[in-house]
Amino acid sequence: MITQNVNNKRIYLSSPHMSEEGYEMQYIKEAFETNWIAPLGPNVDGFEKELAAYVGIGHAAALSSGTAAMHMALKAAGVGEGDIVFCQSLTFSGTANPIIYQNAIPVFIDSNYETWNMDPKALQLAFKKYPEVKAVIVVHLYGLSADMDKIIELCKEHNVILIEDAAESLGTKYRGKHTGTIGDYGVFSFNGNKIITTSGGGMLVSNNEERIAKVRFWSTQARDKARHYQHSELGYNYRMSNIVAGIGRGQLKILDRRIEKKKYIFEYYKRELGSLEGISFMPINEWNEPNYWLSCITLSGKVRPIDIIEALEKENIESRPIWKPMHLQPFYEKYDYIGGDVSEKLFENGVCLPSDTKMTDEDLDRVCCVIKKLWQ
Ligand SMILES: *Cc1c(COP(=O)(O)O)cnc(C)c1O
Repeated sequence: MITQNVNNKRIYLSSPHMSEEGYEMQYIKEAFETNWIAPLGPNVDGFEKELAAYVGIGHAAALSSGTAAMHMALKAAGVGEGDIVFCQSLTFSGTANPIIYQNAIPVFIDSNYETWNMDPKALQLAFKKYPEVKAVIVVHLYGLSADMDKIIELCKEHNVILIEDAAESLGTKYRGKHTGTIGDYGVFSFNGNKIITTSGGGMLVSNNEERIAKVRFWSTQARDKARHYQHSELGYNYRMSNIVAGIGRGQLKILDRRIEKKKYIFEYYKRELGSLEGISFMPINEWNEPNYWLSCITLSGKVRPIDIIEALEKENIESRPIWKPMHLQPFYEKYDYIGGDVSEKLFENGVCLPSDTKMTDEDLDRVCCVIKKLWQ
């Protein structure tokens, strides 16, 4: 048997990519040398300040995951037992699960083809049906931004808090403003496959200083100001550690470089595959500057998503379907859903192509060759 050659090395969808300069290690080393190996410390404070400055917002709380940040956003928004929360259906479960943690009731909202994100028309219908709604969660999938002006207008009209799930869209801008800073709260994730990673982690951002201070309090076990351990509220152990935050500070320095590469990957695919019959690329609107976290396509011809995914897997290349909408998930199907079949169709017809920033032109060519063969 012939041994696998270097040309068959695995290509990932999106994997961790530390800075070429070793910035992350410098921050970690500093933490070791000063014994700040704890869930607080200078890297945590530094990462919060630097991320807030990067996206242009007043305050940030560094937490153990994006899901924890969403949980704290809902709690800060005053969402509790029996409250209704509108949530984009086409997303990862980490967006919706915290609604259940708070014993609230999700109502799922469809997407539109123009943005792949929350459809303002479906949102408007949802407001008519549930005028008592407490909060809205909009998602910026794959680094594309939602149609925020219309969504904000509807939320303002109904006096409802807007939470942006920007877990996949750090660095994405909508009309010149960073996603995550447009609504009342923004959620970021630094999980292993996100555009920058800390191995695992999240951040909640807001211009409401008092609420962010409260989130820091809840996420460090809600200890009252007393010498003894006293608790008058329910607490959580959700704080980011000082080591993890060191990785984040290093990664933040090279975020723009990663966005540039992600954009290069998207444009490479578009150039090479754009003319294949039945392929459409994810929509880039003129008001949107995406971070291109994943390059995604939909298919309307004979070649189906599973054909691409299986052909790539045979060549040791990772790809995956578009998120399966929440209203089609066994766990969530009992909850109400407002809209048509857009999110379902995107799921059925969509593929996320490998978008790893460590890919070379040869790697990109390898992917494109496998896909083109399916049209021959
Ligand atoms: C990754 C992700 C999350 C959750 O973030 P974690 O840090 O993994 O908890 C939430 N929403 C979306 C859309 C995501 O992609």
